[in-house]
Amino acid sequence: MSIMIRHLLHTLAGIIGEKRCPLCSAVLPPDTLQDGLCPGCLARLAEEASIPCAGCGCPASSCHCGNTGLSPLHIFLGDRTWLAHTWYCAEDPDRVTEKLLLACKRKYSYTLSCHIARSMAADLAPLLPKEKRKDWILTYAPRSSGGYARHGFDQCEEIVRQMGAILGIPVRQMLRRTGGAEQKTMETTRQREANIADAFEAVQVPKGCRVLLFDDIITTGATMRSAGHVLADAGAGAVFPLAYAKTVHPKWRTKNSE
Ligand SMILES: [Zn+2]
Ligand SMILES: [Zn+2]
Repeated sequence: MSIMIRHLLHTLAGIIGEKRCPLCSAVLPPDTLQDGLCPGCLARLAEEASIPCAGCGCPASSCHCGNTGLSPLHIFLGDRTWLAHTWYCAEDPDRVTEKLLLACKRKYSYTLSCHIARSMAADLAPLLPKEKRKDWILTYAPRSSGGYARHGFDQCEEIVRQMGAILGIPVRQMLRRTGGAEQKTMETTRQREANIADAFEAVQVPKGCRVLLFDDIITTGATMRSAGHVLADAGAGAVFPLAYAKTVHPKWRTKNSE
């Protein structure tokens, strides 16, 4: 082996061995390896999760407004009919939440999914007492078949699996994607409703079961509504929508960033 090749291999090993934050490329200190994110990004994610709702002044995880039509069966957990961990502001370069969600979608990452699963589990635990968790099933809205084919995994499946393990809630795939594209370019509720209509079919839904339905982002609520109705029609007795992030109404953006 020539010295040059050996030097090249050594340099490559150095690059590969050094763990970097997938959101900002900062080198990760050894004690942050469990989260897979640098302290700066972790702090900003926590900051974004505490931004108050313009309607009720509560952070996303305890906001009670803006829930119209989100819960197909109007099920309450504690005093909530839906749950999101944080607000989402698309194409805002200062927000880390978007970077985290995009990173999770594009490349399989156990540590990033784990970060989302832990945040969701922390919000959900107080709403669902331990003894009741076995009565619920965790499931997810599968990503489009195009997205699955391109990336080879479903980030929501991974997150739900980890949430189930943390909370002791059974996990099951109950929906299959039959249509609908990944919705990055669709802006209006009507476009999204049209795209997602008939996009799911139910598989293995036990009669009367109580379902926690997870999706990574709620934008207009069209996906949640469509998937929730399919589960209800297939026999689910309760569907509670869960998301890591809920899109902030454009009106709120300036107010929140002031
Ligand atoms: Zn970072
Ligand atoms: Zn609110």
